[in-house]
Amino acid sequence: EPVAKVDLVSVIEQALELTETRLERDRVGVEWHPPAGPVMVQAGEVRLGQVLLNLISNAADAMTESEQKRITITIEPGDPVVAIEVSDTGPGIDEPEKIFDPFYTTKEVGGSEGMGLGLSISYGLVQSFGGEIRGRNAKEGGAVFRVELERWPENE
Ligand code: ADP
Ligand code: MG
Repeated sequence: EPVAKVDLVSVIEQALELTETRLERDRVGVEWHPPAGPVMVQAGEVRLGQVLLNLISNAADAMTESEQKRITITIEPGDPVVAIEVSDTGPGIDEPEKIFDPFYTTKEVGGSEGMGLGLSISYGLVQSFGGEIRGRNAKEGGAVFRVELERWPENE
């Protein structure tokens, strides 16, 4: 898949559509206020979608025991850097320095979740189109994953 001009807003909306059933089943609310128009970035559309799916499913996994279950997605449409943040109301990240290591997981082994590969694969995918991904804990609690992408030049 080539790196191309991709509308970040529609990639986010596709990822939310694909996870809608699971999020409803687990009673996870979504806060997402899309901007009025498209936000064009440099990415692989399928790869970026995969990254967002990983972040959304990790957030939902993290909140199974939480009283409040909400995923908040925001875009900072800067130039030349566009940032996306996926935050949750879960317990936060235990060992932030390890989360991108292959096979690092704090989940029960078994099934495709809990292999500890989602974030290491996501890291490689984001690198492959020139972006960056980081995870941190929010002061108010919960995890925040930030993906920074290059904005597609305005007049192209
Ligand atoms: P897996 O989901 O299979 O455990 P990942 O690579 O997707 O593997 O994530 C690795 C680990 O990072 C998780 O097991 C968890 O400990 C931590 N992590 C990822 N996302 C979150 C989150 N939103 N909140 C808290 N911890 C998280
Ligand atoms: Mg995962």
